[in-house]
Amino acid sequence: MKGLKELSRPAWLRYGIAAASSVVALLLTSLLWPIFRHMPNMPSFLAVFFVGWIAGGGPSLLTLVLCTLGILYFFSSPSHSLRLPDPESAVRLAGFVFVGLAGALAFSRLWTSRRRQAELIEQTDKARLTAETSRRELEQILESTTDGFCALDRAYRYRYVNRQAEEILGRSRDDLLGKSVLEDSPLSAMGMAALRSAMEQGETCHAQAFNMTLQRWLETDMYPNPDGVSVLFRDITGRRKSEEDLRRLAAIVESSEDAIIAMGLDGVITAWNAGAERLLGYSASEIIGRGISRIMPPDRRRDEEEIIKSIRRGEHFETVRLRKNGERVPVSLSVSPIKDASGEIVGAAKIARDITERKRSEEERERLYLEAQEAARAREEFLSVAGHELRTPLTTLQFQLHTLGRRVAAGQAERAADVLARARGQLDRLVRLTEELLDVTRITSGRLSLEREEADLAEIARDAAERYRDAAARSGSEILVDAKPGATGLWDRSRLDQVMTNLLSNAVKFGNGKPIEIRVEPDTMWARCTVRDHGIGISAEDRSKIFDRFERAVSGRSYGGLGLGLWISRQIVDAHEGRIEVVSEPGQGSTFRVELPLGAAKGEGA
Ligand code: ADP
Repeated sequence: MKGLKELSRPAWLRYGIAAASSVVALLLTSLLWPIFRHMPNMPSFLAVFFVGWIAGGGPSLLTLVLCTLGILYFFSSPSHSLRLPDPESAVRLAGFVFVGLAGALAFSRLWTSRRRQAELIEQTDKARLTAETSRRELEQILESTTDGFCALDRAYRYRYVNRQAEEILGRSRDDLLGKSVLEDSPLSAMGMAALRSAMEQGETCHAQAFNMTLQRWLETDMYPNPDGVSVLFRDITGRRKSEEDLRRLAAIVESSEDAIIAMGLDGVITAWNAGAERLLGYSASEIIGRGISRIMPPDRRRDEEEIIKSIRRGEHFETVRLRKNGERVPVSLSVSPIKDASGEIVGAAKIARDITERKRSEEERERLYLEAQEAARAREEFLSVAGHELRTPLTTLQFQLHTLGRRVAAGQAERAADVLARARGQLDRLVRLTEELLDVTRITSGRLSLEREEADLAEIARDAAERYRDAAARSGSEILVDAKPGATGLWDRSRLDQVMTNLLSNAVKFGNGKPIEIRVEPDTMWARCTVRDHGIGISAEDRSKIFDRFERAVSGRSYGGLGLGLWISRQIVDAHEGRIEVVSEPGQGSTFRVELPLGAAKGEGA
């Protein structure tokens, strides 16, 4: 046993010592008999005490027994016999036995208490060892933990600071140990308040705050104990930043005008922002967890396979999606992969943008392009027609002037006058063509002005008919006029004459030599004039175009004209707030009808 080596001696050794000591005591008594003759028990007495001291109560008792027997046998009379000795020796021996027994008993007690003491020492050592091991283990844990740890005593002094705490606080433990947190504190105000409440109210506290001194976010837990407070803290700056980034990102996603949708590789929708709700009509709670096929028109399901295949490449698509109400919406889709921490693709993020407007303006652009192409073609054609139309009367005029010269030279005045009259006709035609061209410029630049005056539509019709009677007769047509009185208003007389002339010249031109009927009549609100022929007529398709600029329903070779007369007529009638229309069928003739508001007096100008 530790500290008392005699206690750890084995029994055989202790009892061996008893036997040996008894022999030594008896030998000493015998050898030094002259000295011990008056006290022959002395060496044995010493042996009993010696053995009791170094080997305990049992061996001491054995020594007592052996020495008593030895003394009885060797040193009492009768000698060499174990019979009762003489009375003096018997008294001495009894005294020896009595004191020896008391000694053996005392040593037995002493050894018992020594053993107990030794056991206690052993237990204390063990406990100390266990405590030391636990302390070392705890220290190891505290040193290896990723949290900072400080133990503070009740005076707020650092009692323990672990390695991580040194790192977070930027101070060495030698610098901190023994100092008070209150005097030299790296804690934030909120951290300090929590610490005080842990120390003074004995409450477990938790704080999360930005530490201005350290320029870090710290999360702190404080645990009160009888000796003070244990403080565990960790740097959460990175976590706060990622939380912040995540929040910012979520806000961007949520406020995005585009629809942002996330789905797993199994096609299940996992995220759905407000833009997606606006575009497709489903709320996030309605659609998250559902299959992506819900928003895909049946004829576009194959697209999705392509999209899934191309996730890795992060491509753009134009496709169509289905709204909650069943409407189809054209979208441009950009798809990018969603990866897990190990870089495995676990889903796809899709950004969808409504391209209805873009598609419409593309359809629109196409239409304008075709229109522009058509206008360019019509202009080309017009220029060639106009060139031809102008050249014809000019060539004729040239020829007639030449003939006129010869007639005048030959003194043939009468024939010369005839040629001159025809030349004047060509000139009129030239003037009319030039006027039409000028009208185009006037109308397109908004300079068609009306000179309103009291005018009678019947009179205008009759005048025009009169002027055209000869020309109509030349092509075999007769002009019949049925004009009722009262079709009067504040109109531009010469412009209406232009309309009437145009309708009449077309009727003569396309009338196949059949009669032409002009009818003028007023009703309650309108003055109406119709010009009817029985000529080639106009197809439905052409009827919708002939009032447009440069539009003609006939070939330039068969019939002259610039394709401007009806367009100009419509502009004039519109300026009078009236209307012009045609009723016609191919081969059945045509009826053009002009209606003007009666008594319209809205002042001048168109
Ligand atoms: P144009 O100088 O060619 O006559 P208009 O603008 O007056 O120009 O007429 C446009 C086209 O409408 C004509 O080229 C012709 O094809 C058709 N049109 C006009 N009036 C008649 C009509 N009375 N009968 C048949 N076709 C007509």
